[in-house]
Amino acid sequence: MSELLASPHGTMAVLNEFGLRAKKKYGQNFLINRGVVDQIIDAADISEDDCVLEIGPGIGTMTQLLSEAAGHVVAVEIDHSLEPVLNRTLEDRDNVTILFQDILKTDLKKAAVEYNQGRPLKCVANLPYYITTPILLQLFQEADCFESITVMVQKEVADRILATEKDREYGALSLAVRYYSEPELVCMVSPGSFIPRPGVDSAVLKLNIRKGAPVDADEAFLFALIRAAFNQRRKTLANALSHGLDGSDEAVTREEVQGALEKMGLSPTIRGEKLSLEQYAELSRHLRQKYESAV
Ligand code: SAM
Repeated sequence: MSELLASPHGTMAVLNEFGLRAKKKYGQNFLINRGVVDQIIDAADISEDDCVLEIGPGIGTMTQLLSEAAGHVVAVEIDHSLEPVLNRTLEDRDNVTILFQDILKTDLKKAAVEYNQGRPLKCVANLPYYITTPILLQLFQEADCFESITVMVQKEVADRILATEKDREYGALSLAVRYYSEPELVCMVSPGSFIPRPGVDSAVLKLNIRKGAPVDADEAFLFALIRAAFNQRRKTLANALSHGLDGSDEAVTREEVQGALEKMGLSPTIRGEKLSLEQYAELSRHLRQKYESAV
C-alpha cells in the first residue's frame, strides 16, 4: 500500500515525484496535518456501513484514511491532471471510486442510488474555498441524499454559518444552514496545516442534516423573503421586501410587511438581520395568507 500523505514529507514527496504545483484556480491547499484529518474523520463518525462522498480529493490525502474507515468512498475531483497521482496514491484501495467532474454539475441523487442503494451518504471535504457557498447550497438542494456534511471551510465562512441574529456575521447563509441542518464547530485549523499555506484561518464544521423542516413555511417563499431581506440589509425589512422577491412570482407591499411585523409584536422599521429563522417563517405565513385567501 502506498505511503500515507498526511504529513509534510508525504505530501512534498508526491508533489515532487509528479512535478505538481497546487492550482490556485481550483482552491488547492493540501492537508499535511494527520491530527486534523483524524479529527475530521472522527467527527464525521464513519464506519464500514457508510458510503462517503468526498469533494475534491486532491492528491488523495484524506481519501486514503477515509477508505480505511468507510465501506465505500466516492470522490469527485475537477482537476483531471491529478488522475495519475490518485491512481498511484490510492492504488490497492478497491473501495474508492474517483469521478473526474465538477461537483456543481454532479447528480447527487444518482450518486446515492448508484453507490449506496439510495441511502443517505456522509459528505466529507476540505472544500475549495472559492466555491464554498455554491457547494453547500447544492448539497442542501439534495439534503435527503445526506446524513451529515463535515467540511473544512474558511474561518470567516464558519463564523457566518454559526452566527445567530445577535451576531454581526448573521445572514442568508446562516439561515439556509440552520434550515437544513444543525451545525456544530469541530475544530479550528491554522494555515500551517496545509501546503501551500492559505492566507486565512480555517475551521471544520459538522452539519447534521435534519430529517424534516424545522419551521412551518413554504420553502421557496421563505427563501425568497430571506434573500430579498439580506440583499438590501441596510434597509428596513419592509422596504427591502417591497422592492421585489427574487426567484418568486409573488410580491408584497411595504404596508403588508409592516402590518405582519406589528402582528408579530415587532417594530415596523426593524431590519432583516434582527429576525430569527422562526420569525422569518412566521412572517412568511402572515404574508402568504393573502395568496391563500385569494384562491
Ligand atoms: N482533499 C484534499 C486535501 O485535503 O488535501 C484537497 C483539498 S483542496 C482545498 C480542494 C480540492 O477541490 C482540490 O483538489 C481541487 O482541485 C478540488 N476542486 C476544486 N473545485 C472543484 C469542483 N468544482 N468540483 C470538484 N472538485 C473541485
